[in-house]
Amino acid sequence: MMDLSFILNELGEDRDNYYNAVSPPIIQSSNFIFNTIAEMRNAMSSEFDNNLYSRGQNPTLNILRKKLAALDGAEDALLFSSGIAAISVPLLTLLTSGDHIIAIENPYSWTAKLFNDFLPKFGITTTFINGCDFHNFEKALQSQTRLIYLESPNSYSYEIQDIKSIADLAREKGIITIIDNSYSTPIFQQPIAMGIDLVAQSATKYIGGHSDVMAGVLTGSKAIIKKIFEHEFMNLGPALSPNSAWLLLRGLRTLPLRLQRSFESTEIIIKWLNHHPAVKEVIWPFNADFPQLELAHQQMQGCGGLFSFILKDSSFAKIEQFCDRLSHISIAVSWGGYESLVLPVIASITNQQYDSHNKQHQLIRMYIGLEDPDYLIKDIQQAFAHIL
Ligand SMILES: *Cc1c(COP(=O)(O)O)cnc(C)c1O
Repeated sequence: MMDLSFILNELGEDRDNYYNAVSPPIIQSSNFIFNTIAEMRNAMSSEFDNNLYSRGQNPTLNILRKKLAALDGAEDALLFSSGIAAISVPLLTLLTSGDHIIAIENPYSWTAKLFNDFLPKFGITTTFINGCDFHNFEKALQSQTRLIYLESPNSYSYEIQDIKSIADLAREKGIITIIDNSYSTPIFQQPIAMGIDLVAQSATKYIGGHSDVMAGVLTGSKAIIKKIFEHEFMNLGPALSPNSAWLLLRGLRTLPLRLQRSFESTEIIIKWLNHHPAVKEVIWPFNADFPQLELAHQQMQGCGGLFSFILKDSSFAKIEQFCDRLSHISIAVSWGGYESLVLPVIASITNQQYDSHNKQHQLIRMYIGLEDPDYLIKDIQQAFAHIL
């Protein structure tokens, strides 16, 4: 891989072209002028490689595109106005009526809706499997299987998949692989080096890093990225704005630092939670009792700040009281910014729907941001004191 420092500060930056400004410019322009028709014709013949109209390429986005591709060790990247667009658009390009997908169970909620509600309208079916066991992928193969969908770890329950073995199997069978790598980012996990074809991320999370921008990124071979760009991407119009791209360029410069801090603080907080009498179980891929710890260490260089835990007294009311009592850790969806957040599964169901025997219902998801870990521990401690 290229030097990380070079990627973050130099790659793609063309400072001679913009007054030697240290910070890249926001080229807030929808279209670009040509001196001659011949020049325009040349640009129109390949919109993928030229700045013609900002639904396609834009110079500010191009700086970011080069950096994100290099971080993933990929040939090219495509930027989207949201993470879910970076997942749905490639599937619409690569799949056609009658095709079959093998996907891990419990992917990100809107990804699940894509498989369950949206793709079936086009005759595309999905088999959900427990991705912890590699053999489940082999067993689910059909003659129509065109794509394997991974999310490792997945949000809420953090099951991980043996990325390299699955990529090898898919290559052998001519099946495309795509992974949602939002949790780890290329700083902690490099799926392309393990043989995965396409890597999607919600850049809204760690890459943006400040809870102020929505974005998605997809990386892969130039041939696949170009194919997606020239068809569904240009037709559906999920382009990122230059302003948002600039926020991501700014976020990117501190990505390794922020991720390391989030990782280290999470480790401290989890060590404390593991021994707390109010806690039954903590689920985090780098926790000592994680069932797939060895695989996690093999394929991840660090672990994100998102984890879940279960209270010993896991009634609907106790979970709700605990979350309501937190005074510094806020109740909100999303993650990856400065501020630590909590999101229990019970926020998305009613008391009547709550099944106290369903472990999935009991999960309290927490994101550890960049605050002082002791400050956060004190907050969790006082909230526990109210429910014990
Ligand atoms: C947030 C998220 C997404 C969706 O990204 P958006 O930017 O919200 O569209 C996809 N996958 C995971 C794991 C996420 O956390």
